[in-house]
Amino acid sequence: MGLQEDNRHLEDADRKYIWHPFTQMKEWEEATPVIITEGRDSFVKDSYGRWYLDGVSSLWVNIFGHRKKEIDEAIKAQVDRISHSTLLGLSNAPAVELAEKMVTLMNASFGQTQVPARVFFSDNGSTAVEVALKMAFQYWQHLGEKQKRSFLSLNNAYHGDTLGAVSVGGVAIFHEAFGPLLFPTYKAPSPYCYRCELGREYPDCGLFCADKLEEIMKDHHSELAGLIIEPLVQAAGGMIVSPPGYLKRARELCTKYNILLIADEVATGFGRTGRMFACEHEHVIPDIICLSKGITGGYLPLAATLATEEIYRAFLGEFKDLKTFFHGHSYTGNPLASAAAVACLDIFTKEETLSNMLPKIALLDDWLRNMQALPHVGDARSRGLMAGVELVPDKTTKIPYDWQEKVGWKVAYHARDNGVIIRPLGNVVVIMPPLNISIENLGRMLKVLRDAIISVTA
Ligand code: PMP
Repeated sequence: MGLQEDNRHLEDADRKYIWHPFTQMKEWEEATPVIITEGRDSFVKDSYGRWYLDGVSSLWVNIFGHRKKEIDEAIKAQVDRISHSTLLGLSNAPAVELAEKMVTLMNASFGQTQVPARVFFSDNGSTAVEVALKMAFQYWQHLGEKQKRSFLSLNNAYHGDTLGAVSVGGVAIFHEAFGPLLFPTYKAPSPYCYRCELGREYPDCGLFCADKLEEIMKDHHSELAGLIIEPLVQAAGGMIVSPPGYLKRARELCTKYNILLIADEVATGFGRTGRMFACEHEHVIPDIICLSKGITGGYLPLAATLATEEIYRAFLGEFKDLKTFFHGHSYTGNPLASAAAVACLDIFTKEETLSNMLPKIALLDDWLRNMQALPHVGDARSRGLMAGVELVPDKTTKIPYDWQEKVGWKVAYHARDNGVIIRPLGNVVVIMPPLNISIENLGRMLKVLRDAIISVTA
């Protein structure tokens, strides 16, 4: 078969056999899918040989781009030893090595005592969150605080698609359909300054949203097991950057009211915000931290939920006490994924990834400042190499584009026609390039996105 025929077969078979995530398949079936066949550095290539800059790091995971030599080699070497062995009743060398490295990293990031330093592996961001919720719940049960069984989370939060994670989520368009299946949770206002749901303005508000958080804790602390939060950036909610000091206040309140702080760093972890973990920016140490996405550089599914020693010790007891943490997945601690993650952590040190991000963060910040002047850019916000440009028809009223207009998608398609792949969140154009993208390629990407935004909103 020739290239054209091969491609047509692939496209037809995709439309016929695959059910794509978060996708209206009727529309998908009517369009021609872009099928990726290769990747290198910050680029991906489609089946027709067209190359694109990967502006979303393949859904926020490929922090070092594609075909990263060290990760390729680590996985190949591990394949020659063993590809999978369970952590249920056995252990494996790469998982042990990774856990040790992660705890060293926690100590380097957060200090030596009371940091989350017990590693529970799973395989994606949602499971990392499920594990955290079950762990927090059971922790209080073991302490005899049986009434502490509820969770507090934020409006606009996104913690994954499994039912526990959806229960603590707060993005109506994703979560409302499943309402009857969810367990009840308390919801606090989103720290979303551009659209403050409390009608205040930062900084005059004095972090009124944190005062509201406290009100809920004050009334319900005796029932609350934990507060789950995406530190600094509510990512899937629209790259909502919380105001300075909010996270720190949340930590202080959790301590004051004896509630566990669960930091969901699935999106923000591993350098994305310019520090290894977003919590570091405000010197916050969570009780439980959820990690995934960048952990393997986007090579293989892996997640880790880390808890403090104090939480871990509450689960120790005699066999008959049934204090065991009854949770685990088939691929928990997969050796290939663990080997990839070990290689990833080494790259951070070897390539000084975080300090090399600085000029790129500065470039992105400058670009966002300039974008803010455009007539249909309501808000342009970022933390590190994680940015969102919120488009509005009218800056004075801030009334959003009707979601059915799909303005974000129109920008994405325009950018794609010009060699840049992004994935919007509603009316928010999202920029999440690989952390090691070259400054030239970042500049190119931003130029394409600016042109796309201007052209679509004109
Ligand atoms: N938590 C956060 C903060 C996320 O951004 C995501 C995914 N975007 C998840 C959890 C869920 O991760 P996964 O898609 O790997 O289940």
